Amino acid sequence: MKFINLVPDFEKFLRIGGRKAFMKYYYDPNKKILFPLLKDFELWEISWKKSIDELSYNKYKNIFSNNKKYDKKAKEIIKKCEKFLGRKLKGEFVLLCTLKEIDGYSRHNRGINTIYLGMDYPKIFSYFNLLVAHEISHTARDSMIDICKGKKCMTHDSMIKNLPYIEHLIGEGIATAFSQSIFPGKKEKDYLFFDASEYRWCKKNEKLIEKEVKKLIGTRGTHYKFYEKGVVGNSPSRIDYYYGYMLIKQLLEKHDIRELIKIPAKGILGMKI
Ligand SMILES: [Zn+2]
Repeated sequence: MKFINLVPDFEKFLRIGGRKAFMKYYYDPNKKILFPLLKDFELWEISWKKSIDELSYNKYKNIFSNNKKYDKKAKEIIKKCEKFLGRKLKGEFVLLCTLKEIDGYSRHNRGINTIYLGMDYPKIFSYFNLLVAHEISHTARDSMIDICKGKKCMTHDSMIKNLPYIEHLIGEGIATAFSQSIFPGKKEKDYLFFDASEYRWCKKNEKLIEKEVKKLIGTRGTHYKFYEKGVVGNSPSRIDYYYGYMLIKQLLEKHDIRELIKIPAKGILGMKI
C-alpha cells in the first residue's frame, strides 16, 4: 500500500491562506489525489470553496503538531492489518486535511482503492486507530471480492450507481467487526462510531432497523439512504451499520473474519447463524 501524507502541503497553504494559495500549494501539486475527492464533495453538495475562506492557521496548529505522530501510527496500523490478513494490501493510503468535511473514506476506482483519512475532522484523534482499521477493511475486501460484478475496470461513479445494497451493508458490518479484531477491548458503540444515545436507540429498535434494511435488499445504488438521520422515527444515521455489524458478529461465533472478508454479500446472507 502506497502511503502519502499531504498535511505538510496543507500547512504550506494555510501559512498564506485563501483560495489562490490553496490551489498553488495544496491542490495543484496533488491533483491526482485531490481531484476525485473534491469531485465527490460537489456530488455531496459540500461547498468546499467557501470552507477554504473560513480556515485559520491557529485552529490547525494542533493538527500540524500531531502530524508526525499520526503518520507513524497510520503506518503501524497498516502493517498490523497486513500481518493479520497475511497479505500486502494494494492501493493508496492518504493522510490529508479535508476542510473538516470527512474523516475516513475508502474510494474504489478501476479496481484500486484510495483511503482518504481526514486529520482535520473534529475529534478524529479520539477514534483514529479504529477508523484506519475500518477503512483498511474496505480496501482489503474490495480487492478480494468482485465488487464490480465482472466489470473490473469500473470507475467509481459507475460503481456506486451499480453497487448492490447488500454489498454496502455487509461491507460495513465486516469493517466494523474487522476494527474490533485489530483493536479488541473497546465498546461496541466505539467500533460503530456511535455516541451512547445513538447506540441505545439501535439496541432498542433492532426489529425496526431490520424492517427498514430489508426494504433495500435486492436494490442497487441506494446505499446513501441511511446516512440521513430520522429515516425511521428519530433514528440516528447509519443504522444499517448496526444491522450489518450484529449480523457479522453472530457469524463470527463460527467463522473467522479473515474468511468472511473474502465472501460476497450474497454468500454471507445465505450462511447459517
Ligand atoms: Zn465503512
